[in-house]
This record gives sequence, C-alpha cells and structure tokens, in this order.
Amino acid sequence: MKDVLPPSVETLRGDILHHLTYTMGKDPDHASVYDWRMALSFAIRDRIVTPWFASTRQTWEQGRKRVYYLSMEFLIGRMLEDAAINLGMRAVCREAIEGLGQDWHAVVENEPDAALGNGGLGRLAACYMESMATLGCAGYGYGIRYEHGLFKQGFDHGRQVEMPEDWLKQRHPWEFERPESAYPIGFKGTVEKRDGKPVWVPAETVIAEAYDMPVIGWQGHWANTLRLWSAKSVNEFDLNRFNHGDYTAAAEPETFARTLSRVLYPDDTTYQGKELRLKQEYFLTAAAIADIIRRHLAGGLSLTDLPKYVAIQMNDTHPSIAGPELVRVLVDDHGMEFEQAIAITVETLGYTNHTLLPEALEKWASYLMTAVLPRHMQIIEEIDAWHMRNNPSRPHWVGIVKNHEVRMGELAFICSHKVNGVSALHTELVKQTLFPELHRLHPGRIVNETNGVTPRRWMRSANKELSHLITDTIGEGWEADLDMLHQLEPHVQDKGFREKFAAAKRSNKVALSNWLMETQGVKVPPDALFDVQVKRIHEYKRQLLNILQTIGEWHAIRNTPQGDYLPKVKIFGGKAAPGYQAAKEIIHLINDVAEVVNNDPYVGDRLKIVYPANYNVSMAERLIPASDLSEQISTAGKEASGTGNMKFAMNGALTIGTLDGANVEIREEVGADNFFLFGLTAEEVVEHRKDPEHARHAIQQSQTMQDVLQMIAEGRFSPDEPTRYHGLVHNMWNSDYFLVASDFEDYRRAQAEVDEAFRDSDRWWRMAALNTARMGFFSSDRAIRGYMEDIWGTESAL
Ligand SMILES: *Cc1c(COP(=O)(O)O)cnc(C)c1O
Repeated sequence: MKDVLPPSVETLRGDILHHLTYTMGKDPDHASVYDWRMALSFAIRDRIVTPWFASTRQTWEQGRKRVYYLSMEFLIGRMLEDAAINLGMRAVCREAIEGLGQDWHAVVENEPDAALGNGGLGRLAACYMESMATLGCAGYGYGIRYEHGLFKQGFDHGRQVEMPEDWLKQRHPWEFERPESAYPIGFKGTVEKRDGKPVWVPAETVIAEAYDMPVIGWQGHWANTLRLWSAKSVNEFDLNRFNHGDYTAAAEPETFARTLSRVLYPDDTTYQGKELRLKQEYFLTAAAIADIIRRHLAGGLSLTDLPKYVAIQMNDTHPSIAGPELVRVLVDDHGMEFEQAIAITVETLGYTNHTLLPEALEKWASYLMTAVLPRHMQIIEEIDAWHMRNNPSRPHWVGIVKNHEVRMGELAFICSHKVNGVSALHTELVKQTLFPELHRLHPGRIVNETNGVTPRRWMRSANKELSHLITDTIGEGWEADLDMLHQLEPHVQDKGFREKFAAAKRSNKVALSNWLMETQGVKVPPDALFDVQVKRIHEYKRQLLNILQTIGEWHAIRNTPQGDYLPKVKIFGGKAAPGYQAAKEIIHLINDVAEVVNNDPYVGDRLKIVYPANYNVSMAERLIPASDLSEQISTAGKEASGTGNMKFAMNGALTIGTLDGANVEIREEVGADNFFLFGLTAEEVVEHRKDPEHARHAIQQSQTMQDVLQMIAEGRFSPDEPTRYHGLVHNMWNSDYFLVASDFEDYRRAQAEVDEAFRDSDRWWRMAALNTARMGFFSSDRAIRGYMEDIWGTESAL
C-alpha cells in the first residue's frame, strides 16, 4: 500500500480548529485541554479512516483468510500519541497543537487509559493487535466494551483502596458505534426436540452491539479493527410500564442487560465460578462467532471452507466456549452433521495457554453450565464422547467433564488444532505437567510462541531519547525490523556511544525524579540506581522477596552508617485483586517500610522506596525507560512468560531474575554476562517443596533473614499496630509456598553483584547497551509471524 504522507502543520491546524468548532462545538477562546485533545484526536482519526477502508476492501477483494483474536481483555492504554507516531505525524501534531497555544504533554496526558484488562494477558492482546496491523495480517480483535475498566488504586494509610474506573464518562474519540452490527445472545432456557432435532429456546436474550476501533500499523500501511461488544436490552425500554408512569421500572430490562458489559473482573490469576463471568465469556464469544459466520457467508463462501478463510485464536480459556458454540451454530442453525462440524471447528480454532497455576485453570460446575448454556452442555458432552471414541487409549481421568465440572483447558485443547505456550520453558511445562496425556495423544499439537511486545509503543513512543540515539546510530527502520538493533553491537565498544546511551537513560531518570517529586512528594537523586518492580502484586511474583531484601539493606545502613553504600531507589508499582488478602498485605508492608525508611535521617539519600499508586500502561511508559534494574524474580516455574521483563531489557535496564518464563530466553539472547541470575530452577523448586521444613531451614541459615523477620514481627514498620504482620511472619517460617526464604541469600548475592557492576559505570553501560542491542527477538512482530506461520496459516497482505 502507498505511503501515507503526513499533513502539513497548517492543514492539520485547520483540521483541529474545524473539529474544535464543529465536532466539539467550542470556541477556541473557551476550549479546555479536553476539548483540544478531542479535536486533535478527531483530526488524527480522520487520517486513519482511508487506510482502514483500503485494508478492508483489499481483504475482501483478495479473498484473504482473516484472523480473529478473541480476548476478554485488551489493555490498550492511551491511543493518541501511538496513532500519531504510527502515522508518522507526531511532530506535525505537536507543532500544530503548540501553534494553537496548547501544551503538548498536557493534551497527551489528558487522555484516560483504556484499561480493559488486568495485566500481562490483556497488554499482550493489545501488542498483538498493533503487530498484526503492522505486518498486514488481516484480522479483527474481539473483546468487551467494559463500561468500567480495571479499578483505580489508591492508598489509605498504606492500604490499597479500590475506586471505580470511568473511562467512558468522557467521549471516546477512537470508536465508531455500529448499531447495524448487533446480535441477539441467548442464555438459560431449555432444549426442545423439533423434528427429532434439538432446539435451544433461551429464557433470556440480550443484544450485543459492536463498537469498532481502528488499529493502525506502523507507517499507516495497514489497519485492522478491534471490535468491542456492548450489551443492550432487546427492548431498551418496556414502554408499557413507562406509559403507566413507572419510569425507573421501565428501565429495568436495560439495567439487567447492561450488567453484562458493565465491569471487568479484577482477578488476573484466580478464577471464581461466578455466573456473571460465564455469561460475559459467552456474550463475547457468541457475538464474535455470529459476526464471523455472517461475514463468511456474505462473501458467498461455504461453511465447509471455514478453516480456509477463518482462523480463530482464543486468548486463554476465557473464550473457549467458542468450540461448542461453533459446533452449535454449524449443527443446529446450518444442519451440518456433528462429526463434520467438530472437524471444521478444530481446524479453525487455536488456543493460547497462559498459566499453569492451578487456581487459574477455569472449571465451571456442570450444573451452572447446564443452567446458563443448556445446549452447550450437551455439545460439550458430545465432544468429550467423540474425543474418547477417537482416542480409545485415553485414560479415564482425562477428559472435559470430570467430577461434575467442565474443565475449560481440556475443552480448549480438544477443540483446537494448535495449542501454544508463551515461552520455551512454559511450553515444556504445558506438555509435561498440564496436558501430558493429551500431548501424547496429539503429538505436535502443542507449539511454542514466545511472547513479544511492540517496539513502537514501548521504545519509539515511550523512550524518545533512546529512539533518537538508535536512529542516529543505525539509521531508520529498526522499529519494524527489531533485529536491526544488532547493528548497535559494534558501537557498544565506542565510549562516545556508551556515554550517549547513559545520557539518554539519565534524562529519563531526571524526568522520572521530577514526576516522583511532584506526585509522591519524594525526592530521589537521579544518579542513584533505579531498581524497579512493577507488575500485578502476586505471591508468586514475590514482591515480598524484594521488600525483605530492601529491609536488609536498610538494616545494614542503620548498623554500619559509615559504610559505603550505593545510593538506591526502590520503585514498586502494581495492583492486587480486591479479594486477594495476602497480596494486599504485601502492599501494606511495602508502604509501611517506605514510610520508615524515607523518614529515617540516618539513611538520607542512600535508600528511598517509592510506590506510586495505580500502576497502568501510561505509568509503565514513564517508569520503564527510566529504570536501571528490572526485577523479574518470580518463583521458577510460575510465570508463564512475562512481558514486562522484555520492555525493560529493550530499554536498557539490566535484569535481576530467576530462570522463569521468558527470562530464560532473554538471558540466552543478551548473554549470561549481562544478566543477574539467581535462585532455584523450576525442577529444584519441585524438589525443595518435598521438604516440609524448607522455609525454617533456609531462615536458620540466613542471619539477615532472621533479623528482617524479627524487625517486622516486633512492629518496627507498624508501630501503631505491632502485631500487624504476625501472620505474614508466621507464614514465612511455617509454609512459604513460593520459596522466598530458600532464594533469599542467593538474591542478596545477586543484588550485591548489581551494586558492584553499577559502580563500574563503564561496565554497566556496556552491559545495558548490549541488552538493547540483543532484544530484537522480543518484538511482537516476531511473535505474530510465528502465529501466522505455525497456527493461522496466513500471509501478509503487504
Ligand atoms: C507489561 C505490563 C504488564 C505485564 O507485566 P509482567 O511483568 O509481565 O507481569 C502488566 N501491566 C502493565 C500495565 C503492563 O504494561
């Protein structure tokens, strides 16, 4: 497709003023930052529409296979600057808006994050949408247009408090409502026999209405659609009741329907068997399948050819009702035989597994599935029996429905032609521990697609300083060909280059210190080591290990104040699921320790702890480019991949980490010398747990650990409530499921090595620059190419 040329500053200024006046209805003299941001967004959006239409038209004309990415979460963040950058018009936008007397940063930061996701899984979906558009992979993302995205986090005396998120209170300039694309979605009811055929008669029906957001790829060559479904009532108002004067009762059907797309579930790794959640999953999936089938048939194609033109990817098991739903549509609505319908379904579907944590594996009670989706429950049992028939050696304990539960992992596996893990280690563990029998019955079905992140957002947009240096050094084009970063390697030997690399990092650190001063009231020296752990708070991610080690450092400074300590800033960020007490306690502890350490006159500038509330995509964009050290310290075998680890290393932060998830591959790529490794391996973790006394033994061998736990137990960080952390300390001695104690001393050893390396700034910047130079593999473009080749069987349209 032709290059899209950026408009001139004058043209764009005219467009902005036009939208301000005629779309927003505002006089420039009285316009707020919000009005200007809207006007600019509309002016940018106008320029996406043409390539967007052209992409759709080309897909139709060429009869291309389309990819449909089904995900309950899309953690998009802000859109304005990313769209401007991908259209090559950021500089023009900035000049135009400043020429109109507005502050560019204020306009950009006026945009609320689209927080339609919890963390890594949702952010991955957003990166993949952007890479599909960049690569010209024709497709759609399908999700839910939650009225309330992930809750906003605040702290009250160190405790997490949750506040509702309201992003749709303002106008959302990046979406187009499509009232003509609406489908009825049924729930509950009965299955009746008509002419000997089962017919589902739902008891409840809601309407799924589409809202489309264009997703523009790098340089505007291709654009796809993210289609989000919003729930509407079948009859928006019960006019009969309205006419009888009961206005609020008249709105009731509307209220009932809208709950389906009202709120995102805030649990990222535990699943709760809630009826509303199951309904949300079916709502998304059924709307997507209906839309896919309609488009396929509108193209004059036969349903037997579905896998030739359609690839459906299920992001985790959340949309795995897609298997039974597709079978239902083919059999019940289109009269196909079951055997053919399931064969077509398997050829069409792919399933991405994201976790091995037992509490995260979705299982729905059979009675609930039967109540909410009676016809699907029948089909699930039919699929299970079909699979058993075709695989007589399947052991009795393997299957979809066991112990009156529907296991969504097994369902997704059996309904897919490819199942993928998200890092090399994780994929091995999926084969060996999660689905060993299904893997034996279907060798070759499980494949690996290591995660990636988009360098457009995570480098080009978030880290302008580094991006300019890279472009000045190796030329243009690396954003869409991240392996080009290897060309930086010879320059790493050049002191001048390393100084510029360090200067870029310093400039980001200065900006972050200013922001921390303004927003947190904490003054941090920009030349200190910025040691950062930002991600959801979870016991397996072990923020506890980090804060215990931090207490150890503080204790050392207190005991030997004359010592030579490397100035350090420990930065934490992340939300805990509202019902996850153990995670909330860790948050409280971090904030309590920060309060004591930051106000300790003996410590001064040598150690600071900051925990800005409400970690989200825009905060990540601010923190990651300013980080020196990336904490990726999960218990080995627990983190499927991680993507935060990739964002940091690309931006020249060194990793301190365990052999978990994609850390393993990151270390292989950047080189063991440029990575601070510590901790037990996944295999050793399993061995260690066999000793019921593993924690006690480890603590007894670490004086520091004993001191740290003692201080916490004495209430040094909770003088107002000395017993506050007794439960936590007790758990450390007696259980410690995630092996914090066993890894503690090795973690301290690695931290000491970090300090030593950072003091040798020549060595540090060599290591940091090599990290950037060797992270090309972790572009989401590479990941999407893998999906296209190994799973979807599609080719680029560009
Ligand atoms: C990348 C990202 C994550 C995932 O981080 P991990 O360290 O891989 O868990 C979570 N939240 C946000 C806002 C992100 O940008």
